Amino acid sequence: MRSTWDVIIVGAGPAGMCAAIETARQGLHTLVLERQAEPGGQIFKSIGSSALARSLGADYSSGLPLLEEFKSCGATFLPSANVWDIAPDRVYFSIPGQSRCMTARQVVLATGAMERPVPLPGWTLPGVMGSGASDILLKSASLLPQGPVVLCGNGPLIFQAAVHMHHFKVPVAAVLFTGRLSNMLRAMKHMKGALSRPGYFLHGVSMAAQTFFKQKCVFAVRDLKIEQAEPENLRINFTALGGRKKSLSASTVLLHEGVISESRITRLARCRHTWDERQRYWHVSADEWGQTSVPGIRTAGDVACVRGAVAAQSEGRLVGLDICHELGRLDMTNRNRRAEIHMRSVRQCRELQPFLDEYFAPTPSLLQPTDDAVVCRCEELTAQELQQTIKQGCFSPDGLKAQARPGMGTCQGRMCGQAVAEMIAHTQGLPLDQLPQYTAQPPLFPLSLGELADMPMPPDLN
Ligand SMILES: Cc1cc2nc3c(=O)[nH]c(=O)nc-3n(C[C@H](O)[C@H](O)[C@H](O)COP(=O)(O)OP(=O)(O)OC[C@H]3O[C@@H](n4cnc5c(N)ncnc54)[C@H](O)[C@@H]3O)c2cc1C
Repeated sequence: MRSTWDVIIVGAGPAGMCAAIETARQGLHTLVLERQAEPGGQIFKSIGSSALARSLGADYSSGLPLLEEFKSCGATFLPSANVWDIAPDRVYFSIPGQSRCMTARQVVLATGAMERPVPLPGWTLPGVMGSGASDILLKSASLLPQGPVVLCGNGPLIFQAAVHMHHFKVPVAAVLFTGRLSNMLRAMKHMKGALSRPGYFLHGVSMAAQTFFKQKCVFAVRDLKIEQAEPENLRINFTALGGRKKSLSASTVLLHEGVISESRITRLARCRHTWDERQRYWHVSADEWGQTSVPGIRTAGDVACVRGAVAAQSEGRLVGLDICHELGRLDMTNRNRRAEIHMRSVRQCRELQPFLDEYFAPTPSLLQPTDDAVVCRCEELTAQELQQTIKQGCFSPDGLKAQARPGMGTCQGRMCGQAVAEMIAHTQGLPLDQLPQYTAQPPLFPLSLGELADMPMPPDLN
């Protein structure tokens, strides 16, 4: 395989596939690196091989034509390729046991988002997982969680999970909503924008209605605590509206507090980031063509800002078209003509976003973990242990990492980074947008020294 490309795209979700389709069609040598075995990303996970490709509804099966278009576009697809470092013109990745470095004139990061990790007591117990993660098991391995299930949180995927549980007849003990009732009022101010995509909006309303009417729902839930207990394996204690203490038994608890950009790779690339106050996460700053503050590095889709799969596809197309223009394959008139429809689609998604961001705004009390919650899962550090160090005079996530070791483990701060920043900001009275995040360091995941030593150097570094 060649080691020099016109374009390297990291991530074969909707955004990455669409960018590749545009660049490969114009004859640019395009390589797509994907850590999973198949293209599809989160929403279209395993769409090419899933036994449920047609039975999970149009949201999922709409990925089939895109997959076909991607397969036939002429881009080279490298599966199981996990990118662990990035520079403006080169990408370092591991194909199990073997690392490679390849160069490109343009690099596109389309690495998507993750479920917001919200540490609460018991979230590390067996049987407790993200509802998005459970959905991925359903799509990729036709696996359903063992019932009774308790769904818990505040985010769009909770409705989808509730609908899927009902469809596959998995017993649900209750859906516990942690969102504030005031979210709904604030969201109403943005109703006009929400109606800019009436089909999408009504689809969401329909999923919410199915959840409210077909499942037992409890609203404004707080003080969540999960414990190991008989007879169903798990016990969920919580306070319901009006201050009543309640508890439920379950075999599986699915948590979901929304989706946030996964910014480690864009931080590694030293791109500039923006703080989203409503949804409380950092995302990379990029223009309408996906150009970041680092020349040669672009982003598309949820990694840049979480707006869903439709926006991700349009953003991918725009990035692809602009690369074709920059590399001399499309003149500006042609680029702009082709971009028009995708620009319109992105605009509509942007108009809808304030409604969703307000409706699913994270509940502030949940962002401050209680003393007994494990915050750093890798190093098994509780909020109490971290608070002690913060109170002794720690003012940054890197400082806390140096003193108490959160973020030192296998996930490199992916799971605890946001929570640690929230804790420091709250305790020290600092605005979170002024707080630096963990400094991202290569490799993004553990590599053996042998693999690093054996890595062939690209010709220009030899
Ligand atoms: C767990 C989860 C489940 C979701 N499920 C749904 C759903 O069912 N319905 C829905 O409407 N929305 C869902 N979403 C939201 C969804 O992510 C977006 O709407 C849409 O998929 C975004 O497309 P994307 O191309 O930007 O990113 P993604 O679809 O996330 O694709 C990014 C791709 O990049 C790959 N990648 C990431 N890092 C690397 C790396 N270092 N090296 C190589 N490859 C890498 C990933 O494996 C992934 O395939 C989900 C989000 C999450 C986090």
